[in-house]
Amino acid sequence: MDFILQCSEKNKIDIRSLTFDQLVCLIVQMGYPKYRADQVFHWLHSGIQSVDDMLNIPKDLKADLLNSTFIAPVTVYKKFVSDIDGTVKFVYKLYDGNFIETVVMKYKHGYSICVSSQVGCKMGCEFCQSTKSGFIRNLLPGEILGQVLESQRRLEIKISNIVMMGIGEPLDNFDNIITFLKLVNDPKGINIGYRHISVSTCGLADNIIRLADFNLPVTLSISLHAASDEKRNSIMPVNHKYNIQKLISACRYYQSVTGRRISFEYSLIDGVNDSDADAKKLFDLLSGIMYHINLIPVNRIENGVFSPPDMKKVRRFNDLLVSMGASCTVRRTLGADISASCGQLRSKFERKRGV
Ligand code: SAH
Repeated sequence: MDFILQCSEKNKIDIRSLTFDQLVCLIVQMGYPKYRADQVFHWLHSGIQSVDDMLNIPKDLKADLLNSTFIAPVTVYKKFVSDIDGTVKFVYKLYDGNFIETVVMKYKHGYSICVSSQVGCKMGCEFCQSTKSGFIRNLLPGEILGQVLESQRRLEIKISNIVMMGIGEPLDNFDNIITFLKLVNDPKGINIGYRHISVSTCGLADNIIRLADFNLPVTLSISLHAASDEKRNSIMPVNHKYNIQKLISACRYYQSVTGRRISFEYSLIDGVNDSDADAKKLFDLLSGIMYHINLIPVNRIENGVFSPPDMKKVRRFNDLLVSMGASCTVRRTLGADISASCGQLRSKFERKRGV
């Protein structure tokens, strides 16, 4: 079976990474009837930690599953709760001793979760903490799903929105992200609508086009942060490979296929990208696209050199864009006291090998 995901340390299939059809295939190959796959899939997506916790599954099937599969664990290592707004940050520990972070935010319309897609990140954005320790590995689809399931279980809530804006570059872990999207959207699982999911990217234009061709109605969120190549090159190395023109034409393609409005994230950095001329350039760049701009005063990171403009400048930038006719808002910062805001998540809380 080419879909088998080998997990290096255990050399077993992460069963939670399998789509329903893949699970059926596995269970039928093991000699059990198809309806057992329905039951196993149900248990896996209900947030159980071990095959032993599945109640209506025969002993033989459990033994076979334990023999050749495992559930890649996503276990709470630490939990932080913001005194300011109740935002929760989990530090999750993975099977190989790596750590990732996940944030759960409460909005009027329900709970939103910000999941990580990789351990670390290769993209090297100057303003982002998540990339400072480099890249370690991709997360399995089941490890991304596990963040949602375990957060729901620990907080006794139902998540209604997912943003892929945690640690890592989702489109650099493309196949696993597609599988994850199918898993969370499955009506037999937690059934979160694609329209309630945002995939954020620093601008891997080729993979934006690949994503468009899947035609899933997820919201594409582009971390733009600058409207000229000169400025973008200086803060986002990815721009050397996919410049603004390539990025914007991939966005136009995405929109032409999916019909979805695109979100552009623009972190305002004092003295770098926050002038009136920057606002005008941004407006002109997005002409002809159906979009919304989220302005985020840049969050401070450890040893970071960037600081946010004062609120007066932020307002001015926003108002200028709105006056030109742009759809634009300033995003509220959540979880500032627990380092849970955009760009503050890290992959190595404390790394111990072999635990
Ligand atoms: N790699 C993906 C998703 C992770 S980052 C991406 O680049 O989109 C989530 C968002 O936070 C991105 O828009 C990112 O550019 C932004 N971000 C990173 N560091 C930040 C900081 N210090 N302040 C504000 N936003 C930041």
